[in-house]
Amino acid sequence: MILKKVEPTGYLREFAKWILNDESRLDRVPSEKRTRLDPPRVAVLVLFHIACLSVFIVGWSAAALVLALGSYLLRMFFITAFYHRYFSHRSYRVSRGVQFLMACLGCTAGQRGPLWWASHHRVHHTTSDSDKDPHSPRQGFLNSHLLWFLRRNKFVIERKYVKDWLRYPELCWLEKFDWIPLVLFGLGCYLLGELLALWFPYLGVNGAQVFVWAFIVSTVLLYHATYTINSLAHKFGKMRYHTRDDSRNNWLLALLTLGEGWHNNHHRYPAAARQGFFWWELDLTYIVLKTLEKLGLISEIREVPAVVLNEAGRGR
Ligand SMILES: [Zn+2]
Ligand SMILES: [Zn+2]
Repeated sequence: MILKKVEPTGYLREFAKWILNDESRLDRVPSEKRTRLDPPRVAVLVLFHIACLSVFIVGWSAAALVLALGSYLLRMFFITAFYHRYFSHRSYRVSRGVQFLMACLGCTAGQRGPLWWASHHRVHHTTSDSDKDPHSPRQGFLNSHLLWFLRRNKFVIERKYVKDWLRYPELCWLEKFDWIPLVLFGLGCYLLGELLALWFPYLGVNGAQVFVWAFIVSTVLLYHATYTINSLAHKFGKMRYHTRDDSRNNWLLALLTLGEGWHNNHHRYPAAARQGFFWWELDLTYIVLKTLEKLGLISEIREVPAVVLNEAGRGR
């Protein structure tokens, strides 16, 4: 009987459920424990942070730092342009093939799949800074920054908020395997470093160094920069519009997140692809999206209506 309790297949089954984002792993968790932190997810996040210390083992080079910055900017764009402005707000249109490619690229940021991301973000917009908001700083700064998504009850996709995406089987499939693009990206970083060492030895890089800087360190920085929009951008900055929530416009956060820091603007008119409403509000994501439109990869970009722009003069 005792042996049956520690049966390894049980643990393997649980591990497989976690890896495949199988929500039935929560079935046996009593409702009063569902708001507690989910140990495997906490462990992965802590591990990524600890792994940053390996920069002291692999050292650094100018090439590794440039690649880390490139990896950060590229994946920040995937999050803001694809996960946020497309999958959450449908602020432009793409073909089904490009849509799936965008979903796969977004997964390289290690922020789960597009349906999970969009569903919780849509909940945020309908419940902003109320008791039901999944990540309002009113319920604690740390909760809004990162604890919220580490809780067991936030492991699930809020399906009723993403009914429009559930009809695409390829997107539902990707939600199970959201970690594959992330792992491939990490391997790609290592391979790139090894190839650079082979072809351009004077750069002083190698696979391990590029892996640590362009994958591990870059991912952790990307995590925190993304989280600031849920935490800092609902606390610090200017409130141009009376949006009945705490969203702020913050130029520094906008720089770090390629335009997402114009968060009060965004809460005023979430359907627009543009978040920096005026020319002096730098929104690099929007600029790149306009370029992609010219190249014919995306279409029907939704703009900010004149009435909303005119309101700005009367805002705080
Ligand atoms: Zn917000
Ligand atoms: Zn949004």
